Amino acid sequence: MRVHELAKELDMTSKELLALLKDLSIEVKSHASSLTEEQAGQVRARVSGGEPAREAASPVKTKTEARAPSGGTAAPPPVEAEPEAEPEPGPRTLVVKGSVVVKDLAEALDMKPNQLIAELMGMNIFASINEKLDFKVAKEISEKHGLTLEQEKKPVERKPAPVTKPETVPRAETDRPEDLLPRPPVVTFLGHVDHGKTSLLDRIRKSRIVDSESGGISQHVGAYTVEHNDQLITFIDTPGHAAFTNMRARGANLTDIAIIVIAADDGIMAQTREAIQHAQAAGVTIMAAINKIDLPNAQVDRVKQQLQQEGLAPEDWGGDIICCPVSAASGEGIDHLLEMILLQAEVLELKAKPNRPAMGFVVEAKLEQGMGPTANVLVKKGTLKLGDAIVCGPHWGRVKALINDRGNKVRTAGPSIPVKCLGLNNVPEAGAEFLACGNDREARAIAEERTNAARLSQLGSTPRRASLDDLLRETDATERHKLSLILKTDVQGTLEAIQQSLSEIKSDKVTLNTILSGVGNITENDVILASASNAIIVGFHVAKESGVNAIARREGVEIRLYSIIYELVDDIRQAMTGLLQPVSHEKVIGQAEVRQIFDISKKGKIAGCMTIKGRITARARTRVKRRNEILYEGSVSSLKRFQNDAAEVREGQECGIRLDNFSDFETGDIIEFYELEHVAQEL
Ligand code: GDP
Repeated sequence: MRVHELAKELDMTSKELLALLKDLSIEVKSHASSLTEEQAGQVRARVSGGEPAREAASPVKTKTEARAPSGGTAAPPPVEAEPEAEPEPGPRTLVVKGSVVVKDLAEALDMKPNQLIAELMGMNIFASINEKLDFKVAKEISEKHGLTLEQEKKPVERKPAPVTKPETVPRAETDRPEDLLPRPPVVTFLGHVDHGKTSLLDRIRKSRIVDSESGGISQHVGAYTVEHNDQLITFIDTPGHAAFTNMRARGANLTDIAIIVIAADDGIMAQTREAIQHAQAAGVTIMAAINKIDLPNAQVDRVKQQLQQEGLAPEDWGGDIICCPVSAASGEGIDHLLEMILLQAEVLELKAKPNRPAMGFVVEAKLEQGMGPTANVLVKKGTLKLGDAIVCGPHWGRVKALINDRGNKVRTAGPSIPVKCLGLNNVPEAGAEFLACGNDREARAIAEERTNAARLSQLGSTPRRASLDDLLRETDATERHKLSLILKTDVQGTLEAIQQSLSEIKSDKVTLNTILSGVGNITENDVILASASNAIIVGFHVAKESGVNAIARREGVEIRLYSIIYELVDDIRQAMTGLLQPVSHEKVIGQAEVRQIFDISKKGKIAGCMTIKGRITARARTRVKRRNEILYEGSVSSLKRFQNDAAEVREGQECGIRLDNFSDFETGDIIEFYELEHVAQEL
């Protein structure tokens, strides 16, 4: 018998049972661990003996406590949830020494560094993430967010401490632990295409409607909430890691639990692996749903074995990943899946303070006929109420109506509850944060401030993210850094070879963290993940998919392409040890224009070219440019004049060019040839 099963039998939470087991000196790993009959008997005896092992193990109060506040439909918040008369805590105060680093201040203000950087731009201050801010500036900006900064006083001073007077209700206050109440988990399905993410979402939604007594017509509000065993679970409606990471890149970390959906007949595929890496990079809890078990060729154990190989050992095999065999088609295993989600949520102790002004994120937004701008939002903390003044990205408004996922108008929406919100003056972007403000004036002022900041940041350069060149610049020598990397290569063999070489780099300043590695070209998803995780992208013998350059520019993501393993590893080693030479040593020797494409060889297409500038050689390195976008960097596989191999082709001459690992030519592409000039490295 599993720990969580016994907990259920005894009407207590797994956590309480774990405490009790510890008290009884019964060693178990987690809620999923097995207990012998004898051990279970011991526990039963203790519980029925009426002698609570410790305070935490009192078995009665839990059901109501675990109930989360809902959008006004299902479980009402427990009585203790409404401490009406309780005073709001005063403004938060932070004592600092002299200056504050942007990154640290952003953390203290509970915002993303790039949001803070944008706000600083609005004050005409252009600071990078690791830059120190003048105390006065830091104080000014903190005040806008309800945080009072104080300079550290010298200990000799014996004046009485100044009493900070509570001026306004702080917006970014840190919630006190005693005010926090359990909230529903927010779940996203990720996984390979066609493995059943959408079908699972539909099946779970349908199962609720059948159960539902109110019988409302379900409304698409970006996410929906189901009730299971008196507790709520929220599912994000757009499955898949692209949407998941896109939200994250905008600062919206909504998901608590990512469920990797794997079809039992197909097993782990390329996008499953990618989804796992995206979930891991986000640091969310991972569970697995092994779907399509109704199929005759379903092989649940094979999938578990594959999960094990991916480093996600299933809990019933001694690991900690909960795996639920399910069928979206027949409904088998769905109840068990919901139960396991709640169990996982219990372990995560998800909490938020309902009794405060709401904040959360826009899941999606549009202009709807008869309604004006509508934003489907998910409340993260606090309670969104009808009539609240809200600011959302650079827009603001007053909440005119709230519609829940059952199509009912509601007056409030608490933590983890999705609602459609009407009343904004404009359509916000997906991923934008919303905040409830004291009044319209305040909301409007913040919105205007943000509009100005956004305008300025458009004038300025792109957001600055991680870059190899300044990994160790502008930083404190004592601080340890993390270099997050996305690595894409042409074949699995090189991927492993490069990972091996990278893992051997020793640096006492930098820890290397490969958040995604895979075979294939660099995609938009890779760039978004890099943006969300402040990573750089390194490609070996791969090209960038079209559109990648534009997004990388917009997001400020660095992409480096290599065609020699040694150089790739060396650049990273040098960056990690502070020796990277940021200057590039290349010299362009010539350009050819693609005039015609021949598909006559198995080894890849041949570009019929005209040398339009300089000279081109078979030994030189090349890059393919299309309308100023670099699509590929690599080497020449063959260079021919008429039928013969040529070492060099001069300006005005025609030739046939085949490149290593690139065939995707279009007429008009420019192939640029360059050589590397070696400049002695300073060591
Ligand atoms: P997604 O791309 O991951 O969202 O996958 P879908 O939910 O669109 O499902 C892909 C296909 O698999 C559809 O044809 C579904 O009908 C089918 N499918 C999904 N779940 C199951 C299942 O549990 N059993 C069977 N037999 N088919 C399923």
